[in-house]
Amino acid sequence: MIDLTKLTRKNILSLKPYSSARDEYYGGDGIFLDANENSFGSVAQENLNRYPDPHHRELKEKLSEIKKVDAENIFIGNGSDEAIDLLIRAFCEPVSDDILIMPPTYGMYEVCAAVNDVGVLKVSLNESFEINVDEVINSVDENVKLIFICSPNNPTGNTFNNESIESLLNQFNGLVIIDEAYIDFSNNKSWLERLGDFDNLVILQTFSKAWGLANIRLGMAYASADIIRIMNKIKYPYNVNGVTQQIALDALSKKSQKDTFVEQILEEREKLSGQLNNLDLVQKLYQSDANFLLVKVNEAGNIYHYLIKNLVIVRDRSNVVLCDNCLRITVGTSTQNERLLELLRNYGELK
Ligand SMILES: *Cc1c(COP(=O)(O)O)cnc(C)c1O
Repeated sequence: MIDLTKLTRKNILSLKPYSSARDEYYGGDGIFLDANENSFGSVAQENLNRYPDPHHRELKEKLSEIKKVDAENIFIGNGSDEAIDLLIRAFCEPVSDDILIMPPTYGMYEVCAAVNDVGVLKVSLNESFEINVDEVINSVDENVKLIFICSPNNPTGNTFNNESIESLLNQFNGLVIIDEAYIDFSNNKSWLERLGDFDNLVILQTFSKAWGLANIRLGMAYASADIIRIMNKIKYPYNVNGVTQQIALDALSKKSQKDTFVEQILEEREKLSGQLNNLDLVQKLYQSDANFLLVKVNEAGNIYHYLIKNLVIVRDRSNVVLCDNCLRITVGTSTQNERLLELLRNYGELK
């Protein structure tokens, strides 16, 4: 059992959250003269004059059905990036506390920590991109409050071994945050069904990848009701706008469309992998459980710039640990992938 009272920053524990007009009265009908909104209407679009539901009730209800998790275990944020930031702010004392990350991984954990003046301990993955469990456990002291695990991992693309993650969940006295931004593309199960087994588990998911809704900025954190309460206490009252909530509700009613996208992306990922493997300039193609491929090439920088010159933009990850000469390529549509491959074939011949 973790002691959440001890883990939470004292100023956050004692904080009395802002109470908005929509906190104090919630209901559909009535003459609303409580929030200083414009009662006449809105400029540019209809029906945007009212503040949105600060508790995202409808959205949580729908997610609760689909994900089979109680609404009290769901936090809704302005992208999963908001959840990352709030977790650091709620549990890490600036200057004295640390988070632990396992590079190469998603850059936002480190950036959010730095913004909050929270230290970052790094324990690299091993050469096969797996977690060095013993090293992680040996590295944590009482100042490490959060461990971030991105699985499937960005930029390596692999899902981590379940036993490694479980072992960290069991041995670490702080929170273990599993970022599942790419879980829809993986054959591995989400940790969501294990949520009840660990009081220190936080799972992050997002609408930005498989759902194709990066623009609306919507992410979720799933955790114990106590952890969710702390996150809700410190979020901005109207952190997720009403337009976003409406679009997300609409999307959730069309889940099969998301599943079709995932099928198409996986099909293209397999095709693209096969073709990339045939190229001389590809030295290693890493196995991927995500919607991108990490590819080790002979000269990443040159290829990256050549592709940009030809209006195909990939991500150069060659200055990241363990990713020497690696490009990260998002799986595109069949036409987009064909163009990429055509350019890569020509590059070989240009030399
Ligand atoms: C893309 C991505 C996200 C998504 O962040 P949002 O703020 O929800 O758009 C989260 N984590 C990882 C590892 C990602 O690659």
